[in-house]
Amino acid sequence: MNPIVALDPRVEGLGVSAALAARRRSGELAAAGATVFRLGLGQSPFPVPAPVVVALRAAAAEKDYPPPGGLPELREQVAEFHRRRHGLAFAADDVVIGPGSKELMFLLQLCWAGDVLVPTPSWASSLPQGRLAGRRVVRLPPGGSRELMTTPEAVAAACAADPWRPRLLFLNSPSNPTGLVYDERELAALAQVCRDHGVVVLSDEIYADLGFALPHRSIASHYPEGTIVTSGLSKWCGAGGWRLGTMAFPATSRDLRHAMEAGASELFSSTAAPIQRAAIAAFRGSDEVEAYLADVRRILAGMMFWAFTELSGIGLEVPEPRAAFYLFPSLAPLGDALARRDIVTDVDLVRWLRIETGIVALPGSAFGMPPEALRVRLALVDFDGARALVAAGQEPISAGFVARHLTQVHKAIARLTAWCTIQRGRS
Ligand code: PMP
Repeated sequence: MNPIVALDPRVEGLGVSAALAARRRSGELAAAGATVFRLGLGQSPFPVPAPVVVALRAAAAEKDYPPPGGLPELREQVAEFHRRRHGLAFAADDVVIGPGSKELMFLLQLCWAGDVLVPTPSWASSLPQGRLAGRRVVRLPPGGSRELMTTPEAVAAACAADPWRPRLLFLNSPSNPTGLVYDERELAALAQVCRDHGVVVLSDEIYADLGFALPHRSIASHYPEGTIVTSGLSKWCGAGGWRLGTMAFPATSRDLRHAMEAGASELFSSTAAPIQRAAIAAFRGSDEVEAYLADVRRILAGMMFWAFTELSGIGLEVPEPRAAFYLFPSLAPLGDALARRDIVTDVDLVRWLRIETGIVALPGSAFGMPPEALRVRLALVDFDGARALVAAGQEPISAGFVARHLTQVHKAIARLTAWCTIQRGRS
C-alpha cells in the first residue's frame, strides 16, 4: 500500500506568502539575467547597528535553552523600551519573546477563542494565519470616513450581532501596506468603541520606530487594559533574518499570556539565546543606536517623500506615507487605458509591470483589496543601506541623493512613471 498523505483543509491551496514568493521570483529573474527591481519583500535594507552585532558575537557560545517566554533581562528591556519610546507601561513579566512577531501573532490566534477582526487592507499574513489557526476571520470593509484605514463604525458594525462573542481586532499603525498612521483622535475613538464592545486589540507596532514624524502614538495609551502590543528587531533594527519578536500584554490578560508561554514551550521551546542577548543591546539602546535610527529615518523620509511626489505627480492615487518604506498607489486613474490591454486586476497589473519594467511588486489583493482597485504595494528597499548611511552623514537627502545612492529605487520609480505615461498616451 502506498503511504496515505492527506492535507488538512486549512492548508489546501495555501501558497508561500506573497512577499516571500515575490522574493523567490526576483531571484529567479535576476539569475536568468533579467533587469529586476526588487520591490516585493519588505525587508529593511539597513545593516544591524554595530553595537548589536558586537553583542551577538559576544554571546555566540551561549547554548542553553532560555525560558520559553524569553530571558528576564530582555523582557525587562522591552518593557523599558516601550516606556521610554512610546510612553507605554508594561510589566517585564507581561512581555513574551518569540522567533518573530509573526510567530507570536499566530500563537496568539491559537490561544484565542473567538473571532479575529481584520481591517482592509491589512498585512498579507493576517488572513492565512487566521485560517491556519482555525479562527473565524471577519474582514472589516474598506472605505468609510478614512479610506484604507478602519473606523469605529466598522468595528461597531462587526460587533453588532452576538455582543458577547470574544473579538480580537488587528490594528497595524504605521501600516504595511500603506505607510499610514492613525492620529491621536482616531486612536481615542477606536479605543472607545473597543472598550464599549469588550474587543481586545492586537496592536502590531513593528514599524513604530520608523516613523518620519515622532513621537509614535499607540492605541495602548488610550486603552491600556485591552491592548496587546507587538514589536521586534526586524524593521527598526534591520534584523528580519535574526527572527526575534516581542508581544506585551496588559495586566488584565495574564491568563492569555500564560497560555502563550505554555504554547511557546510546546512549539518552539524558546528563541535563540545569542539573538536574545543581542536584542538586549538593541532594546536598551545607546547613543550609537539612536544616531543610526535618526539617519535611517532621515533617509526613509526623504526617499519616500520624493517617490510619493513623483507618483502623485503623474496622477496616481497614492496615500502619503508617514513611516517605513511602503507605497500603496492605485493605478485606477489609468483604468480605461489598462482595460484596453486586458489589464483589469491587480494581478494582471503586477505581471505586466514585471514583464515591461522589471519591477517586482505585490498586488493589493494580497492585502485584501478588491483586485479591480488596481493597487500595488511597492517596498522601496532595493538599495545598499550601509552605503546610504555613510552618504547620509555627508549630504542632505534630496532627489539627487536618491538618484546617486538609492539608484535602483530611483530607476524603478522612473520606469514606473514612464510606463504609466505610455499607458495614458495609448488611451
Ligand atoms: N507585521 C507586519 C505589518 C509586518 O510587515 C511584518 C513583517 N513583514 C510582521 C508583522 C512580522 O515581522 P517579524 O515576524 O519579522 O517580527
